[in-house]
Amino acid sequence: MNQSIGNCWGNRERNSHQQAHLAQLRAVIAASTIMPLSQAERDDLSLMREEEKIARDVYLRLYDRWRIPPFGNISGSEQVHMDGILALLERHGLPDPVQGLGIGLFHDQEMQALHDRLLAQGLRSLEDAIQVGLLIEELDIADLRAAAARTDKPEVLAIYADLEQGSRNHLRAFYRWMQKLNTNYVPTHLMPGDFKSIAMSEHEMCH
Ligand code: ZN
Ligand code: ZN
Repeated sequence: MNQSIGNCWGNRERNSHQQAHLAQLRAVIAASTIMPLSQAERDDLSLMREEEKIARDVYLRLYDRWRIPPFGNISGSEQVHMDGILALLERHGLPDPVQGLGIGLFHDQEMQALHDRLLAQGLRSLEDAIQVGLLIEELDIADLRAAAARTDKPEVLAIYADLEQGSRNHLRAFYRWMQKLNTNYVPTHLMPGDFKSIAMSEHEMCH
């Protein structure tokens, strides 16, 4: 199976590209032969669904506050990531850990606390908001890689790889803003070398 799903979004047609992108993710999932998941695989899917919701919800609020493009654009991309994981949960007959929850709300207390802490920091200043973006993206990449190492299911690996590619692009976008603001960021979830090589490499477009 081809593990990199097309990802060619332009600014003007962002919404229709995001819809097309989600349709591609759903097609990969629908075409897969479903094998039973281990408990670890199920836990990982559930965690990633919640993490993508943290990203979407925090970015939506930070876009309201700071009105800079990355938060607006990237919150739309996080919605696609949430929907992609939801499609996997549904295909495997698993419950949605955030079903029916509005923006900024989580059932899991740790997730709620993480969301609240990141949002509070991001509302303090634009510099803090960019730090929060970098933290969410490096955490997402680290957790997607850890989850990918615990599964051998092709459709799960394909979605994780796609989401990780999106996260690498998001991290690059926030990193450029960090440079523009003359600030610094110390990674805490990725090794500094890994973080730097992602941040400093080219935006990944169509394959
Ligand atoms: Zn994401
Ligand atoms: Zn992201």
